[in-house]
Amino acid sequence: MPRVVIVGGGISGLSTAYYLAKAGVASTIVESRSRLGGVIQTEHVDGCTVEAGPDSFLSAKPAAMELIRDLGLAGDVIGSNDHLRKTYVRKNGRLMPLPDGLMMMVPTKILPLLTTGLLSWHTKLRMGMELFHAPKPKAGDESVAEFIEEHYGAEAVDYLAEPLLAGIYGGSPSEMSVSSVLPRFVELANRYGSLTRGVLAQRAKAKSSSPAAPLFRTLKGGLGQMVEAILAAIRGQVEVRQGRAQTVERRGDGFRVRIGGDWLEADRLVVAAEAHSAAALLPPVDPRLAELLGTVPYSSSMTVALGFDAAGFHPLPEGHGFLVPKKERRRLLGCTWVGTKFPYRVPADKIVARCFLGGMEDAGVLAESDDAVVATVLRELQEIAGVTAPPRFTRVSRWPRSMAQYPVGHPARLAEMEARTRAIPGLYLAGNAYQGIGIPDCIRMGRQAAVEAQGGG
Ligand SMILES: Cc1cc2nc3c(=O)[nH]c(=O)nc-3n(C[C@H](O)[C@H](O)[C@H](O)COP(=O)(O)OP(=O)(O)OC[C@H]3O[C@@H](n4cnc5c(N)ncnc54)[C@H](O)[C@@H]3O)c2cc1C
Repeated sequence: MPRVVIVGGGISGLSTAYYLAKAGVASTIVESRSRLGGVIQTEHVDGCTVEAGPDSFLSAKPAAMELIRDLGLAGDVIGSNDHLRKTYVRKNGRLMPLPDGLMMMVPTKILPLLTTGLLSWHTKLRMGMELFHAPKPKAGDESVAEFIEEHYGAEAVDYLAEPLLAGIYGGSPSEMSVSSVLPRFVELANRYGSLTRGVLAQRAKAKSSSPAAPLFRTLKGGLGQMVEAILAAIRGQVEVRQGRAQTVERRGDGFRVRIGGDWLEADRLVVAAEAHSAAALLPPVDPRLAELLGTVPYSSSMTVALGFDAAGFHPLPEGHGFLVPKKERRRLLGCTWVGTKFPYRVPADKIVARCFLGGMEDAGVLAESDDAVVATVLRELQEIAGVTAPPRFTRVSRWPRSMAQYPVGHPARLAEMEARTRAIPGLYLAGNAYQGIGIPDCIRMGRQAAVEAQGGG
């Protein structure tokens, strides 16, 4: 039986450990934090389920649901309240709803596009005329901003793409690789010319084959429930070693990993830590791979959850929340009304606002004190959404350098990283720096590492 060591106990590393254990292969997880789960962390406060990190996963990507079914948690899966899904965007000091029928930044319904106050007539016309775009396939990568501007104009970048993507990646569309961040849109644009026509055609196909799933899914008890279920399932087959892996060396056909003063021997090594951490570990194994890993940028983010008595809100907040585009931004990137977005999260007499700060342009906010951050959030919630109620509880969570960014050129860098990793038998990489930052992507990559580590290929 190969000795498998996994560095990093976030969802990527846990998925590797789970699928190895399922195949009867024991492993050791090395984790520097005192708990497992990485950025997944759920807390229950005052009757509310509060997520410090991610709150859900996209239904469209199957790996998370496959794992959840395997864990026997299918009965605890809940969907987002899509009938209440209205997201507001701040423009000229006011909150305007995103037009109905928008798929990310692609309009699929005419009337809501014509009547929205979020976009000028010039942009509406431009978005309508996009239907007549002829296919113009491009060989190389380009930025999300260039791609969206070519299809829908600059205002669609500023008031749709920028706030939507800043809310997910904490980065800027002018830096992000469209081939890595919106690969499906690139395929559709190459095929149909018009992105709108492509999305409509694809949607028609999807509708005829399966009933509509909620956009996001999660678990009744929060995503921490998935981490707990994995830990219960792997108990006895996985040893957890708390400590920071400091370096990795080749040793015969395998590796050895230094943790404090000890060396841990491994026949197979899965590095499921952030790329900047992997970069610090791997120079003795492959200096060029370590260098490439070190060039993956990461954004730092912060979530601030505030619990209120619903009685303090007149009127109650509408929709799933709001986004603040860079052009209108102070510190808040956006806010989710947790009890509206998901059932089971917040009792009817309470309201929980989950606010996002940080990103590539405001990493400094993580260094501010909790009191200072909460004061900023309350001031901006009042200014943007008219919230004047005092919070009953607050939770501030900092995630330094946790969210990988895919800048223009990421596909080429990824190809080189993958080729170099394949050339080192027994070494595997998993995590949000490679083929997707979402939870289903991380589970898929963790599972793939488990499959390869069993075979040793
Ligand atoms: C605030 C926030 C909100 C998000 N929201 C969503 C969402 O709603 N839906 C979604 O799909 N995705 C979301 N994401 C993205 C997604 O959650 C992450 O990409 C994913 O969970 C990353 O998992 P991971 O295991 O690759 O990395 P991590 O969770 O970062 O885990 C890596 C682990 O490796 C450990 N480690 C690092 N270096 C070492 C070392 N040298 N030795 C030992 N241990 C080490 C770290 O301590 C950490 O525990 C969100 C991310 C953040 C930060």
